[in-house]
Parts: sequence; C-alpha cells; structure tokens
Amino acid sequence: MDSSNLPAPPGGTWPTLDPGWVWLVGAGPGDPGLMTLHGLNALRQADVIVYDALVEPAILDWARPDADRIYAGKRGGKPSAKQRDISLHLVELAQAGRRVLRLKGGDPFVFGRGGEEAQTLVQHGVPIRIVPGISAGIGGLAYAGIPVTHRDINQSVTFLTGHDQTGATPTSVNWAAVSEGAQVIVMYMAMKHLAGITAALIDAGRAPDEPVAIVTRATLPDQRVLETTLAHAVDDAAAAAVDPPAIVCVGRSVLMRQVLDWTGMMAGEPVRNPDPLGRGRPAEQA
Ligand code: SAH
Repeated sequence: MDSSNLPAPPGGTWPTLDPGWVWLVGAGPGDPGLMTLHGLNALRQADVIVYDALVEPAILDWARPDADRIYAGKRGGKPSAKQRDISLHLVELAQAGRRVLRLKGGDPFVFGRGGEEAQTLVQHGVPIRIVPGISAGIGGLAYAGIPVTHRDINQSVTFLTGHDQTGATPTSVNWAAVSEGAQVIVMYMAMKHLAGITAALIDAGRAPDEPVAIVTRATLPDQRVLETTLAHAVDDAAAAAVDPPAIVCVGRSVLMRQVLDWTGMMAGEPVRNPDPLGRGRPAEQA
C-alpha cells in the first residue's frame, strides 16, 4: 500500500508505515519545506502523531485529517511530559497496532532524546525506523547566512548543549578543552546559561571580541539574528529581548553573514561586506 500520494522515488517505492511500528522522524528546524520526503511520506500514513514543542504546527497540516495528534512538548527544562512517560506511551500505541509517527524538531538524534526513545522501543520489541532531519545547528545557521564550515575558517565544528539533564550548565563539557580545541562552537539550548557559558569560554582563553550570532526561530518567517561578541552577548541578548529557541554560534563563521545574509538580501538589504574575512581576492581563488 502506498497511501503517501508522493511521486515514486527514483527506482523504488516509498516505505510503508505498518501497524505496530514507530517511525522517529525529524521535522527540521521550522520551515515546513525543510522536512524530508521520507518525513512527508510518514505524515501521510501515520494514524497517530506524537509531536514536540519545536515542531512547526503547519507541518501537521500534511497529516491525515483523521490522525490523532498528541502533544508531548517539553520546553526550557519544564517537563510537561516526562521522558519515561513519552517513551512508554509510544510503546503502548505501537502495541495497540497503531501506525505511530514520533515527530521531533530538527534531527531526532541531535540533542532530542531520540536515541533514548528508540532504545526503549527496541527494548520492548517495537520495530522502528529513523528518519533524519535538518538540525537547527546546521540548517538554522544556513538561513542566517552562516556557513557552519568554510575553508578559510574551520575544519571542524563543535556542537554543544547548554543544558544537561538536570537543566544546569553541563559539567560534562570540558570548557577549557572546548575553548582550546573548538574552531567554531554551535550551541543548542544555551540561552538560560549564556552568562556562565560565555564567561567560561573567556576564562578558558577565547577572545572576548570573538564574533557570536544568536539565531532565534531560525528558518521561520519571524527568524531574528543578533550579531554580537562573547563579551557582549549576554547584555545584547537582554537588550534585544532575545527569546528561545535559539542557536548560538561562536566563531569567525559569523562574519560570513556580512556577505551571505540571503534572507536580508531577499528583503532588499544591501550586501554589507563582500569580503568579510579580508582575503583581498575573489572567493573562487584558492
Ligand atoms: N533535535 C533538534 C534540537 C532539539 S534541542 C535539532 O536537531 O535541531 C532544542 C534546541 O534546538 C532549542 O533550545 C534551540 O537551541 C534549538 N532549536 C531548535 N529549533 C530551532 C529554531 N527554529 N531556531 C533556533 N533554535 C532552534
């Protein structure tokens, strides 16, 4: 059965979401067009969708009209639904013979507890499929005009969460090692502890004037980007009343926004600086 109504994929057919299965699907960072075709195929078949706070509601318009929609949101360390309860609810739904879609923001395996949910399902004998998504730390920065890697800037990226399981600044992060080793740092869930994090990075040797971008509601029509520095990030974010969800990028990649802010250009803003790294030669020349 192919109830997805999608044009067939080259050389094959779309997978069927069978009763008793759970598909863990990444919805991407917000803009519905950033969900994958496998994700859309899942939405067209699921008879129950368990979705998170950061899933853009418009994406659910693609679901079957008769599908049950179950909100399992958790925001800012306020667990409105306990992880254990969500995982076991997924098990129950699958064991009741439903076609279950677990829809998560971004990528299910990037700071999204998708691994834990998937493990619980497997431990209970529930068959799963994982559909990756575009993570906010990559796609969200792209919408802000920030390339997460660039040959003149970085050969590595460090992805961090600003919360640990208790909601505190993660003590499992070795801030001195990050400061020394991370060329570009991309932080999820970093707003609550931004003061502690920026101070830890500066204490460990990062330059106070290192560029920082804070991208809120990335990829959505009300996306905002604040450009600041490590030393000024906290005050500037407070002055601009920056609210989560936000991705924080620390590093010279932020400078590229001066030439690559394509959403700004679409809105008619001029290019601020065609050569923000000061290379003095065209980008196509090595
Ligand atoms: N699995 C998700 C991340 C979940 S953790 C992913 O791969 O993107 C939740 C954090 O993701 C938020 O606190 C924020 O830091 C980030 N985030 C998710 N969507 C975002 C968006 N549209 N704009 C900015 N940050 C976002």
